[in-house]
Amino acid sequence: MIRIEVQIGCSSGNINYNFAMSLLIAGTVAFDSIETPFGKTERIIGGAATYCSLAASYFTDSSRVISAVGDDFPREYIRLLNDHGIDTTGLITIPGKKSFYWSGKYSEDMNFRETLVTELNVIEDFTPQIPQEYQDTEYLMLGNLAPDIQISVIEQLQIRPRLIVLDTMNFWIENTPASLKKVISMVDVLAVNDAEARQLSGEYSLPKAAKKIHALGPEYLIIKKGENGALLFSGKKMFFAPALPLEDVFDPTGAGDSFAGGFMGYLVKTGELNFESMKNAIITGAAMASFCVEKFGTDNLINLDKSAIYSRVREFSELVRFQDMEI
Ligand code: AMP
Repeated sequence: MIRIEVQIGCSSGNINYNFAMSLLIAGTVAFDSIETPFGKTERIIGGAATYCSLAASYFTDSSRVISAVGDDFPREYIRLLNDHGIDTTGLITIPGKKSFYWSGKYSEDMNFRETLVTELNVIEDFTPQIPQEYQDTEYLMLGNLAPDIQISVIEQLQIRPRLIVLDTMNFWIENTPASLKKVISMVDVLAVNDAEARQLSGEYSLPKAAKKIHALGPEYLIIKKGENGALLFSGKKMFFAPALPLEDVFDPTGAGDSFAGGFMGYLVKTGELNFESMKNAIITGAAMASFCVEKFGTDNLINLDKSAIYSRVREFSELVRFQDMEI
């Protein structure tokens, strides 16, 4: 593991923060009920932070979660995260409250889903408290969550992380646009899907949408296009990562969050932050998303190993490799 030592001065003297490429993931930890043409599940473990931290766990052993659940949330679900080396000190259980609950339904075209229920429950008046031991966070992934909570996480960190990545969705674009704009202005990378990029910018053309979103603050923009891959924009630079054409897609839930987990995991592991490393990171994200959709819920994500991930990444490079040519 790469360790970087820095000394900072503060009013109470010198603090020696021992950075260990630590990744903090804020997002929902939830109950999901999902219906696809291939089956139905009730109240399984879900949530943005769950998928993201599980995907990242294959790249770093120093990931932590900030979230809240109610006292209806089974201990074995939290143990599942711990078994993957994920620190859940920042995942608090609030007595007398119910956990975030989301339910969605997919039709034959699994690029589209209908949200049937979003119950914020414990998330509605959640004020995150960053544990002191999370103050050494170098990489911050703000997964799907209320923008005010995402802002509070950034503001509580005494040293700005090297990289802050934000994911959001239509629910927050529609319900909390002012807070969302504020948090967008505070981050380095914004990851949204194509419909959300259009909704946010009011532009149909994705390069035009990217220009407008850059103007809101983020240096990098990732636009996810489901089974049509993902685009990375930074200024005038653009890169495309395909999605792997899969024979069987059982459940796309969590694909975006697994993408984020793979993306962050790669950057944490290599420690390099530039357009070239972001290209590899989005291929890694696409690989993790491809595993996620092959089974229901987190079923596939929890049982991977590094060699399977490596082979999958190679499949991606085979998919797009071609020789330079003269025409
Ligand atoms: P994805 O398929 O990657 O967009 O993420 C699906 C996950 O996001 C599910 O596990 C849900 O629990 C969670 N989710 C759904 N709606 C929201 C929301 N409005 N805020 C935060 N998380 C959500």
